[in-house]
Amino acid sequence: MPIWNPECETLPREELEKLQAQRLREVVARTAATVPFYKKKFAEAKVYADDIRSLDDLKRLPFTEKSDLRDNYPFGMFTVPPEQIVRIHASSGTTGKPTVGGYTRADIDIWAEVMARTVTSAGVTSKDVVHNAYGYGLFTGGLGFHLGAEKVGALVIPMSGGLTRRQVMLMEDFGATALTCTPSYSLVMAEEAAEMGVDFKKRMKVRVGIFGAEPWTERMRAEIEAKLGLEAFDIYGLTELIGPGVSVECEQHNGMHIQEDHFLAEIIDPATGEKLPYGEEGELVFTALTKEAMPVIRYRTRDRTRLHAEKCPCGRTTARMEKIMGRTDDMLIVRGVNVFPQLIEKTLLSIEDIEPHYQIVIDRPKDQLDTLEVWVEASPRLFQPIDTRKLDELQNRVKTELAQTLGVSADIKLMGPKSIQRSEGKARRVVDKRDM
Ligand code: ADP
Ligand code: ZN
Repeated sequence: MPIWNPECETLPREELEKLQAQRLREVVARTAATVPFYKKKFAEAKVYADDIRSLDDLKRLPFTEKSDLRDNYPFGMFTVPPEQIVRIHASSGTTGKPTVGGYTRADIDIWAEVMARTVTSAGVTSKDVVHNAYGYGLFTGGLGFHLGAEKVGALVIPMSGGLTRRQVMLMEDFGATALTCTPSYSLVMAEEAAEMGVDFKKRMKVRVGIFGAEPWTERMRAEIEAKLGLEAFDIYGLTELIGPGVSVECEQHNGMHIQEDHFLAEIIDPATGEKLPYGEEGELVFTALTKEAMPVIRYRTRDRTRLHAEKCPCGRTTARMEKIMGRTDDMLIVRGVNVFPQLIEKTLLSIEDIEPHYQIVIDRPKDQLDTLEVWVEASPRLFQPIDTRKLDELQNRVKTELAQTLGVSADIKLMGPKSIQRSEGKARRVVDKRDM
């Protein structure tokens, strides 16, 4: 499989690390000189650009947190005057103000470059027709993919999310060969196609899908590949760094290669902040080495994973991050027990006749213990005609298996087809109604 930029993606690690250290020194100097927040932070930590000689010195630098971006909302983290900014994106953000990312002309070029590497890694070339159903707008997904697909010369269909029937029709009419959207939305499309009487696998030419922006399990990958008849690639990114384009799987599907000449990755112990060696699980921290408008230094993503630096059979030498295992802040504590949403997904999807549409609802009725409900759809065939005996059996089975894996009991609500709300972008899996 081709590599978009072999020079950067297969650089011997020693050279790569030298380049990273040099870029780190530069970005520390630049942010210290232009961003009051960093100037103060570096002074407090008594660290100056000239102190950075190798990547070992990284640990002397302070972290940047999401709250720091919020405190400096909207443009306080920019290193350049407003006239040099050509684009703004922002993440949805669940509470209050969004997180803003700014781009100069050069940043847009970097974004196009890393996204060209990304789509190439999934085998997309100038011969492809890319049906891009990531949202266009402030969300980085749509325009990010657009840049990369266009740069490799593919034909891009700028669909954005929504109007699913129309998406299915145009995907067929325009002969899409690659699909880009959230993993949950790809299943919504498959479902809509089935309802329209369109055999997705037979009628569509789509051979690859690049799915990300939300967590998804290997079980979910198997569902998607089976239902859409394509090879699914995981892609990771975040607004604070650039958007999509931070890392992506290669044909080995054994972790996502990080574009390390631009994004310096580390894993830390979220409790102590200590840097952890390759192979250990912890919180992913990134430094944007080349971003002009808004480079973040040691940004704590809250995403949990592991890093590996061995050379990959695909030829790339860049480090790989495993699938995101969850977030340091998404662990739910239900009646004192730690519950991970992704474990619920994994368990549900291992059970036959359970569909990949679910929601976790937690509540705390006044003066009572927490309640945990798992709403999940059962296979449509159990509803036409309705087979109450089978549904009861299935409900008991889900209840038993979840209790075994979670260590806490959940009330299971088996739902009919399409009862769980579908999302065009990131799916809302957890509804926590507790007042805390
Ligand atoms: P939004 O506007 O959608 O909130 P963000 O850029 O802020 O956009 O979202 C970034 C976050 O999305 C990441 O920190 C991570 O938690 C999640 N994310 C992105 N891609 C993936 C992926 N492939 N797997 C798991 N989580 C992901
Ligand atoms: Zn590889």
